[in-house]
Amino acid sequence: MQTVGHWINGQSVAAPEDARLGEVFNPATGKVVRRVALASADQVREAISAAAQAFPGWRDTSLAKRSNIVFRFRELLNERKPELAAIITEEHGKILSDALGEVSRGQEVVEFACGMPHLLKGGFTENASTDIDVHSVRQPLGVSAIIAPFNFPAMVPMWFFPVAIAAGNTVVLKPSEKDPSAANWLAELWTEAGLPDGVFNVVHGDKEAVDTLLTDPQVSSVSFVGSTPIAKYVYEQATGTGKRVQALGGAKNHMLVLPDADLDLAADAAVSAGYGAAGERCMAISAVVAVDSIADELVSKIAERARSLRVGDGTGDTDMGPLITAAHRDKVAGYIDAGEEAGAEMVVDGRTAQTDSDNSGFFLHPTLLDQVKPEMTVYTDEIFGPVLSVVRVNSYTEGVDLINSNPYGNGTAIFTNDGGAARRFANEVQVGMIGVNVPIPVPMSYYSFGGWKNSLFGDTHAHGMEGVHFFTRGKVITSRWLDPSHAGLQLGFPTNA
Ligand code: NAD
Repeated sequence: MQTVGHWINGQSVAAPEDARLGEVFNPATGKVVRRVALASADQVREAISAAAQAFPGWRDTSLAKRSNIVFRFRELLNERKPELAAIITEEHGKILSDALGEVSRGQEVVEFACGMPHLLKGGFTENASTDIDVHSVRQPLGVSAIIAPFNFPAMVPMWFFPVAIAAGNTVVLKPSEKDPSAANWLAELWTEAGLPDGVFNVVHGDKEAVDTLLTDPQVSSVSFVGSTPIAKYVYEQATGTGKRVQALGGAKNHMLVLPDADLDLAADAAVSAGYGAAGERCMAISAVVAVDSIADELVSKIAERARSLRVGDGTGDTDMGPLITAAHRDKVAGYIDAGEEAGAEMVVDGRTAQTDSDNSGFFLHPTLLDQVKPEMTVYTDEIFGPVLSVVRVNSYTEGVDLINSNPYGNGTAIFTNDGGAARRFANEVQVGMIGVNVPIPVPMSYYSFGGWKNSLFGDTHAHGMEGVHFFTRGKVITSRWLDPSHAGLQLGFPTNA
């Protein structure tokens, strides 16, 4: 059976004989399809050293040459993205159209990064003081570590590495060990695009690899995406060793439906955003907050749609694939059990439906719970599965208070035809990304992606100008070209003249 190795200094590196190995499943069949090498600290240091050695040459490569390579990478990715989507579907389980959508959203960040010469332009002030000019530049940091989750094996790394690389940094990517192959495919594409060896490296692994990236003095920045406890840990460890860190964590996203909303639109949106990718999206809707009298009608419209979804292998004619592992499927089912035991009303039960004849895939069908209360674990915890909870409230204010009391603040949406209510919601809700009649408000690449509260540790969001700032640091240069008339001592603090 094939073992996915690392990619260091422009080459595939096989796992040593004594390497620890992980198993990679096809979640739709429940079978192991390959193994993945779990890097030792020494192997991670080898990748970091390759990136550190490549940094000076890459930093000094002209912006024109750097962006040409990024542009070539974009062209290759665009031509060959069905290959990458097939890898994602095989190892993650999401349906092919969803995998293609993931690659396209990542590609948008590559397109944004193609404009790096413009994005890196500094300012220039002539004659700020007599015969003195001032200008500013932004320079790359060095080696950027990127640590990614399983749920977007291509898009999440692409939130960061196109910007990091175009800005002149070098990269060590540590993908999720659950679906590692997309990262190696991307590494080979970079080489084909002409990226010099050592600028983009991939190490596979678990805590040992992550801990090495967080503490190695040659790593300048860490971009992490994953669950909240690990994001917090990564932030604390890596800032403790003086690194710049953006650590994006988990989520619990609410959709507030006001009585004047178009309930068919709202039900379509709840089902698409709640069950798409089997709920394994950090922007998935997991709590539908129904205001006042519309709750019964909304629940029945969501239930009707949830029952119609076709669940199965993502390569077939299906709407929703399996969960990532058997353990995760059982954990999600456990939350449904707990919700029912705590008194939530079971409207659509996804636990009992069987998908494949021998029950070997990690499937769980869409589940809808009504009358969910804020103290139930099905509401308090991030479930990361195809489970929608309906919480009923009496007013807009009660709904907003519920959302603002939640410790997460990644995404949220309001469904209404009242522009004033939507505007007020956008102003007062304490969440990073907000949709108005849009259930998954993932910002375009030229804006920045990121949540508030326990959904992000650090102060910089991903891509857009915040991404450019994260991967660069500023310098201001004050210059005077020698003119003998300015000679003479001046011991006072420099002031304008
Ligand atoms: P995870 O936290 O288990 O893993 C993320 C990364 O951390 C992986 O590369 C993993 O190998 C590594 N890791 C795991 N345990 C570790 C440990 N003890 N020490 C050091 N490193 C460790 O997350 P996941 O299950 O792969 O992904 C799902 C989570 O990611 C969800 O919570 C989801 O909300 C979150 N997510 C958030 C965003 C966002 O933008 N905020 C986007 C995608 C996913």
